[in-house]
Amino acid sequence: MPSPRDLFDQLNTEYSAVHKTKEDLFWSTYMATSSDDAGFARAEEAYKNFISDPDRLAGVRSALASLPTTDADESTQALRQGLQGWLALFECNIIDNDQARILMAELIQLEAALFTKRRDLVLQHLGESGQLEAATLSTLATNMGTNPVKVARKSSHDAMMGLEHWVLGNGFLDIVKKRNAFARAQGFENYFDFKVQKNEGMTTTELFAILDDFEQRTRATNSRALDELAQKHGAEATQAWNLRYYISGDVTRKLDPYFSFAKSLQRWVESFRRLGISYRGATMQLDLLEREGKYQNGFCHGPIPTYFNNQGQWIAGQINFTANATPDQIGSGARAINTLFHEGGHAAHFANVTQNSPCFSQEFAPTSMAYAETQSMFCDSLINDADWLKR
Ligand SMILES: [Zn+2]
Repeated sequence: MPSPRDLFDQLNTEYSAVHKTKEDLFWSTYMATSSDDAGFARAEEAYKNFISDPDRLAGVRSALASLPTTDADESTQALRQGLQGWLALFECNIIDNDQARILMAELIQLEAALFTKRRDLVLQHLGESGQLEAATLSTLATNMGTNPVKVARKSSHDAMMGLEHWVLGNGFLDIVKKRNAFARAQGFENYFDFKVQKNEGMTTTELFAILDDFEQRTRATNSRALDELAQKHGAEATQAWNLRYYISGDVTRKLDPYFSFAKSLQRWVESFRRLGISYRGATMQLDLLEREGKYQNGFCHGPIPTYFNNQGQWIAGQINFTANATPDQIGSGARAINTLFHEGGHAAHFANVTQNSPCFSQEFAPTSMAYAETQSMFCDSLINDADWLKR
């Protein structure tokens, strides 16, 4: 058996490799620069097998048990803390029965198949020009929020509904069934309970207590706002394809000249620099423009999670993030800079995790999603700040 220190170093190195292979393929398949979907599914499975491996969990437990009860020096203390990080990661990803493992592998295949088919699906709506045109989720949402023509807004909504029906007819229900079976095989009621427990460390009951409280306290204000809107613009104003337009469509149109996409990148860099946000030498790869086949939601993933290695050397991050800007669409510039601040905020967070293992700087469980979003949403909230807007 390796010494606790060797085991720790080995986990750091092996994880970094399996994580990077998966993330590189994730990026190239999601950006549609590669169609190696089978390769990605294999890499995803290797990664999931790593983080859910009962033998690695047992190894970490016994390494921790073999450490002296009090830390003789700082380096033992750091080792203990690092091993506890691995313990937390393995404990929340462990799959300790064979049936669940088989279900996980099947699930990866089903998700990869739907993903591949979805990439070839083209949605259409009536855009700003009044012509039928190909649209992405992002252009659909922007058109629905800003187009002054009702029929055009409705066409974007219909396309979104069309996508819902399309996924139902193309294997999504099988994925839902498989996800629930996978969760049940591990003693959870359903996949949602499983995810909330694993990602946020809370039960669904605890989560809903927070959400119900929020809903109750905002209910009166919300329905008052909807009533006012209906009084002002007629009952139709609260229909799905009208609501966002009547709430903010006008403002978005008026702000549009000030939110040119061309200036977004510079404004993001300048704002973050003046906030004192740095990236500790990380390599950043940004894919900002809408493109056919490209994944239609902004995201930030890091192929190289940051840490100080066993020589005390800084392993700088490698971080990819994406936006779906369509520079000529009204409202798109604002959406693009929002994505830059949001995903750039995630990147700033993960580029600055200064612990001794990559297990602390990866964005998956046990890293809480709510915690990660706190960093990114703090950054994107600046865009609505009056002082920032003025400057
Ligand atoms: Zn986010």
